[in-house]
Amino acid sequence: MDFQPTAEQRELNDALTTLARKEFAETAFTHKGAIPHDNLRRLAELGFLGMCMDESVGGGGRPWQDGILATEALARICPTTAYFFFSANTGPSSFIAQFGNDSIKERFLPGVMSGEEIIRIAISEPEAGSDVTAMRTSADIRSDEVVINGNKIFSSHADKANAFIVYVRFGPTNDDIGAVVVERDAPGLTIGPPDQYMSGTNHCELLFENCTVPVDNVLIREQAFRKLMGQYSIERTGRAAHAVGISQLAIDMSIEHLKTRKQFGSRLADFQGLQWMLADMAIQLDAARLLLYRAMTETKDGFPTRYNSSVAKVHCAETATFVTDHAMQLHGGMGFTTSMPLEYLYRQVRAVKIAGGTVQVHRNGIAKVLLRD
Ligand SMILES: Cc1cc2nc3c(=O)[nH]c(=O)nc-3n(C[C@H](O)[C@H](O)[C@H](O)COP(=O)(O)OP(=O)(O)OC[C@H]3O[C@@H](n4cnc5c(N)ncnc54)[C@H](O)[C@@H]3O)c2cc1C
Repeated sequence: MDFQPTAEQRELNDALTTLARKEFAETAFTHKGAIPHDNLRRLAELGFLGMCMDESVGGGGRPWQDGILATEALARICPTTAYFFFSANTGPSSFIAQFGNDSIKERFLPGVMSGEEIIRIAISEPEAGSDVTAMRTSADIRSDEVVINGNKIFSSHADKANAFIVYVRFGPTNDDIGAVVVERDAPGLTIGPPDQYMSGTNHCELLFENCTVPVDNVLIREQAFRKLMGQYSIERTGRAAHAVGISQLAIDMSIEHLKTRKQFGSRLADFQGLQWMLADMAIQLDAARLLLYRAMTETKDGFPTRYNSSVAKVHCAETATFVTDHAMQLHGGMGFTTSMPLEYLYRQVRAVKIAGGTVQVHRNGIAKVLLRD
């Protein structure tokens, strides 16, 4: 039983941490929802951006677990860069690496691995949020083309995405749910005007009206839903790692502040009430990290189990909200200002309780596993 990174993984994290401290830290909180292309190009140059992609497509061939750990390490320094790093290695692009035919891989992955392009996911619909299987967007295969009709909402960064992995229905049952890759300029696709999440990230509605793409763009169709959800459990683990890295950053900042700020003639660090707050933050974060590492270590068919990934996702999301909220409190009025990044960190991690399945829906999944015969 060992939930600790290997020596090789530590080495990778050290290299990324050194790079991020030197080159990404200074601008870490200036991106405001924009894509940090310069940082991504730098990561690409050093071979980090596609490090979890197959060597056959020009990637580094590392296991997805390395990408998750590296996401955590980067999020401790530059959460925005970490998010896009995760996206390129274990997020949306990993669906293409995992399920794509050669043509899809060749067309979409090099742009991502070079730091120039991004791929986003479109699953949610107006009437199908938590209940993904209620989705209506249809895909009709007509000889060498696929015709898509329906609409998707909440597609993050859709205003800047080069292509989308669109969950579609090839037929009436859950087994008929699959995915198609759609380029942003595909005929029949309209990308709505961007709206903004509390985190500062833009999201858009996507409208498909007889949107037509080559049949080659079908990412996965047979027995697809279970496989897509398996891959999604890796994506979910990445979000959890991002939240853990941000929580660590909030704790790092809090320790520094407690040691330097004085009130009533004493350092804040000398007040027991504040020490206990800090201790609670560390206890929650240690537990969250261990649950995350368990989800990465105890896998089935190469994926985190449903139980482990949901437990990790819920605990990491709730811990990150708790830790960043406490960190703001420890910083007093300054913590609540926009000249400090703590309110930004809080807004980033608050999303994890909703995106990638809400914490309620994950609790449903956990209970289902516990109660099954
Ligand atoms: C920051 C962010 C980024 C996102 N990015 C994307 C993206 O890129 N692509 C994409 O497709 N979607 C994206 N989403 C959408 C996200 O996946 C959905 O918001 C989420 O699945 C919940 O669906 P909903 O908003 O329709 O809420 P609903 O399903 O309407 O749920 C409303 C409330 O009811 C609760 N609830 C629902 N059903 C149950 C139940 N059975 N038991 C108990 N409680 C229940 C939920 O937990 C929630 O609290 C993003 C969302 C956020 C916040």
